[in-house]
Amino acid sequence: MFEILKSDTMGRYLTAVKLIKPGELIINEMPLVIGPPMHNSPFCLGCNQKVDFSSEQYRCPGCRWPLCGPDCKGINNEIGHSKQECSILTERNIINSIEKSHGNRLKAIHEVIFHLRCLYLKHSHKDKWEKLQALEAHNDLRKDIPMLWYRNQFRIVNQIREDWNITDFSEEEIHTVCGIIKVNCFGVGREGIRGRSLYPTTSLLAHDCSPNARIILDSNDYSVSVSASRDIKEGEIITISYVDIFMSTLQRRDELKNAKFFWCSCQRCSDPTEFDTFCNALRCPKCSKSSVLPTDPLDQKAPWRCTNCSHIMDADVVAAILVLLPEELGTFDINDVASHKKFIERYSKILGDNHYFLLSAKYAICQAKCSNSTPTSFLENKEKYCREILKVMELLVPGQSRVKGIIMFELYFTLMLLSAKKMQTDQITKKEFRNTMRNAIGLLEESEEILRWEPEGTASRKKAEEAKAILLQLKCDRP
Ligand SMILES: [Zn+2]
Ligand SMILES: [Zn+2]
Ligand SMILES: [Zn+2]
Ligand SMILES: [Zn+2]
Repeated sequence: MFEILKSDTMGRYLTAVKLIKPGELIINEMPLVIGPPMHNSPFCLGCNQKVDFSSEQYRCPGCRWPLCGPDCKGINNEIGHSKQECSILTERNIINSIEKSHGNRLKAIHEVIFHLRCLYLKHSHKDKWEKLQALEAHNDLRKDIPMLWYRNQFRIVNQIREDWNITDFSEEEIHTVCGIIKVNCFGVGREGIRGRSLYPTTSLLAHDCSPNARIILDSNDYSVSVSASRDIKEGEIITISYVDIFMSTLQRRDELKNAKFFWCSCQRCSDPTEFDTFCNALRCPKCSKSSVLPTDPLDQKAPWRCTNCSHIMDADVVAAILVLLPEELGTFDINDVASHKKFIERYSKILGDNHYFLLSAKYAICQAKCSNSTPTSFLENKEKYCREILKVMELLVPGQSRVKGIIMFELYFTLMLLSAKKMQTDQITKKEFRNTMRNAIGLLEESEEILRWEPEGTASRKKAEEAKAILLQLKCDRP
């Protein structure tokens, strides 16, 4: 289905060797290595579940690290808390130093543990070690960033070689693993279970801000699957997005440069209107009629200009707005409809209609639970928001995506409630009702098709199961 190619600018990447259809599975694999999260609270080293330092918490009989329980699947397991890891921690009495620091050293120790798990593959699994070494580390680029290089030298290299006196690995080897983790690692987990993992093939996938493939990380077993989100032609590069697709070009490019060491210049980044969605656009503070857009989206410092009155805004001013507003959004509970509504009202004056921040707030409102007693005005508003998001998604990331699946599911329910209300009050005819329902069922079918691949137990997968049950019921009801 794909081949692995290599170029000087992109490193190793995957291309399709035949046409791949939407939904078709491209990769399904287990991680090479899993590590605890970068967190200052304790996690079970076997399964990455949250634990604590209380006296009731089960402890590893060897190293005294808090673990979820004696039956944890990850104990004595090569991808969890191995015997070797246990003896390293025991010999150095690591848990004692963590407790003395009241947990403050945990994040740093978690980091060292993850790096050691990678490094020890060299002795325990030559095949995995070779696959790990094939991942990009960008040593040359990282050496030129003293803050980063010396941080790794002090926090990882010296910690392992000097403080823990583990001399099996050279400084160069440890720095390379630092790079491999920084560039290729995925965060996985939900509801208190978190981890970081590296995958042999998925980690090679190239990035595009409008990707053609979709990645699903399963927190249950840390497996990953990658499937086509739209047609991928023979010879086309298979791409995923390394960053949140609901981010502005300035922020996506900054984040990719800081975390992955490249300036993205994909089609979406190169287009000031982002495929005519105007997701980036600010409302002009001078004429308030038109959009202010970057004059050169591939230059982070380029000024922004109004398409109507040519009013100029400094890139730093735009960047400041882009930093401040999501901070506010981030403080709201996802179910807090009132705060999201207020946010939309307040910032519609400075952001374009389709701006990401407004869309993010609308996305939250679209997921609010509704019933027969929900006011019509709220349902009408929700319908409007759902359609706006779908329209933008269709242009930005055409094809299957989780966001699209969720919105289609919500739109189905909204249309159903709304048209039932309207028919009861004679606002629509029976025929109109039937037509709306037919469209709504189409949405539900597509939503089920997209969300059925989400990991078991997640909210999205539950939506797929609910959709499937409704569709089955509808089939039975039909004469
Ligand atoms: Zn556990
Ligand atoms: Zn142990
Ligand atoms: Zn891009
Ligand atoms: Zn203007």
